[in-house]
Amino acid sequence: MKKIQVITLFPEMFDGVLNSSMMWKAQNEGAVEFSLINLREFGIGPRKQVDDTPYGGGNGMLLKPEPLFAAVEAAKAVDPSAQVVLMTPRGQRWKQSLAQDWSENEHGLIFICGRYEGYDERIVSLVDQQVSVGDYVLTGGELPAMTVIDSIVRLLPGVLGGETSAAIESFSDGETLEFPQYTKPAEFRGMSVPDVLLSGHHGEIAKWRAEQSKKAE
Ligand code: SAM
Repeated sequence: MKKIQVITLFPEMFDGVLNSSMMWKAQNEGAVEFSLINLREFGIGPRKQVDDTPYGGGNGMLLKPEPLFAAVEAAKAVDPSAQVVLMTPRGQRWKQSLAQDWSENEHGLIFICGRYEGYDERIVSLVDQQVSVGDYVLTGGELPAMTVIDSIVRLLPGVLGGETSAAIESFSDGETLEFPQYTKPAEFRGMSVPDVLLSGHHGEIAKWRAEQSKKAE
């Protein structure tokens, strides 16, 4: 079973995503176990402070090192061999081949979701991987973490089942986008399904699909 722990100030953001569809099925079938760690619980003082102003000046607040270290250490105590993953625009760009690799790895994962203007850089000393979901800035690391988690968990053995096959999906070879698909009815608002797909001729269908698959840019 893959163990995934997430350190976040907003654990409630994960409720809908982790308890629906494939993520729910994956937990139900024992393929994955999620654990949400509220960074606030590791905050300092009566106000449970987790952020502070940056040295050197500048806008916004940064996540303080003490709560982050304590939260990562608590997660590591539960799963000592887990890889610690920091969500950051400065990280390695996430892609399908990484999702495939990480779904095949035995080790658990601990995600750190940044907030505000980011985090005290010293947290990087505890981090194994830094991951970005693209060249844009989101408000926090929660949506990026959910994106990465979803892409990994759906590839865990037994999770996708017959609903779709990861082997023929977009990017499964690292660069090809899936061909266009159609379902019933064959005619809708004057738009027809391509004849070849109705032909029952498997060879021609495979050829058409190969032609229609595109290289990702
Ligand atoms: N000041 C930071 C910068 O300019 O790079 C952006 C901070 S962002 C508002 C807050 C947090 O959201 C980040 O620390 C990170 O954890 C997360 N985040 C935002 N965009 C992301 C992305 N493209 N990939 C991964 N994490 C991201």
